[in-house]
Amino acid sequence: TSATTASKSSTSVIKCKAAVAWEPGKPLTIQDVDVAPPKVHEVRIKIVATGVCHTDWEYLYESGKGMKSRPFPLVLGHEAAGIVESVGPEVTKFSPGDKVIPLFLPQCGECERCRSPKTNQCRKNWANMQLGVMADGTSRISYKNQQLYQFLGVSSFSQYTVVPDTSLTKIRCDAPLDKVCLLGCGVSTGYGAAVKTAKVEKDSSCAVFGLGAVGLAAVMGCQVAGAKRIIGVDINPDKFEKARVFGATECINPRDHEKAIQEVLVEKTGGGVDYALECVGSPVIMNAALESTAEAWGTCVIAGWTETETMNIMVEKILMGRTLKGTYFGGWKSVEDVPKLVDDYMNKKLKLDEFITHNLTLDQINVAFDLLKSGKSIRTVISL
Ligand code: NAD
Ligand code: ZN
Ligand code: ZN
Repeated sequence: TSATTASKSSTSVIKCKAAVAWEPGKPLTIQDVDVAPPKVHEVRIKIVATGVCHTDWEYLYESGKGMKSRPFPLVLGHEAAGIVESVGPEVTKFSPGDKVIPLFLPQCGECERCRSPKTNQCRKNWANMQLGVMADGTSRISYKNQQLYQFLGVSSFSQYTVVPDTSLTKIRCDAPLDKVCLLGCGVSTGYGAAVKTAKVEKDSSCAVFGLGAVGLAAVMGCQVAGAKRIIGVDINPDKFEKARVFGATECINPRDHEKAIQEVLVEKTGGGVDYALECVGSPVIMNAALESTAEAWGTCVIAGWTETETMNIMVEKILMGRTLKGTYFGGWKSVEDVPKLVDDYMNKKLKLDEFITHNLTLDQINVAFDLLKSGKSIRTVISL
């Protein structure tokens, strides 16, 4: 980075490689793209490593189905870590060379929601990020002068990207970027779903539905919170071994039972679990999770994602004292909490290495999608 640290801001376009999603349902293609310099309150970063999250896959293959339609062509990727290359005007918190994690959920610190301790859902840039552009209505990434839309303000399937300075957090300089990238989405989401949104208590019983990275991180959160019983639920039994590594005390495959999974869980626990965490993204499983919680105090947290489907809830389940909640990025206030999660990893309170089943390069990105969808990977980390 010695060449780039010489000047703080830069005005030159960077040519680099990115994986471009030209249209929904089609594999990504590696292209030479141009990354424009950062504008006011923007930061250009060199992406060093990126995870491949289920949500990336969904935007590509479920656009207009489980996901709302979004503009294409775009550059996906939102679970990453990198190094600041240059900063735009009025950026005060970042300098070239800083190690950073880009954030699909910003924390501006100024909006009504940032000022409330009740939520992490900052609204800064929300509307333009949903449209795939920066605050000025344009993207910083282009291919032969054609604008490529950005993804959730991040676009980490590119060697360089530009993000708003409120969608970025600085982390300690000894953090390994090829591991802490996972804190940009999946691990933080699942871990926070348990410790921050559900607020799992010591000696409680928990059930985690779906044992991908989000679910395994939820299992880890239940364990860190001191839960006595942690039941992992997945239709793919290959996930059970990993689940035990993260703290599951038992694992169940719903397909091994004739009864509905919620009935199995209620019976096993003598009335239902204290906490159920849905980490699949399917309304049927969200219902099963809710119905597997104990009457009077059971809490169900939804982390799985769908933007178009509806849940059909038996009102009585709620009337009898259960709580149903959703979580976005695990409830963490992104800018201030992610560096603390990095510390937790460095202090061995939090596992990250165990999530990584594959390491690939950018030109193997479609392989990473296949591994995720076939259930063969937990997380693939792409090095750029
Ligand atoms: P993943 O594909 O790695 O894991 C999903 C797991 O669910 C798999 O192990 C699969 O076998 C299992 N599964 C599928 N059907 C099931 C069923 N009927 N019963 C039990 N298990 C079943 O995905 P991931 O990356 O861990 O993401 C999980 C979900 O979380 C996705 O919906 C993703 O979009 C969402 N997500 C939400 C947020 C948020 O902020 N709330 C952030 C990141 C990801
Ligand atoms: Zn994600
Ligand atoms: Zn805000």
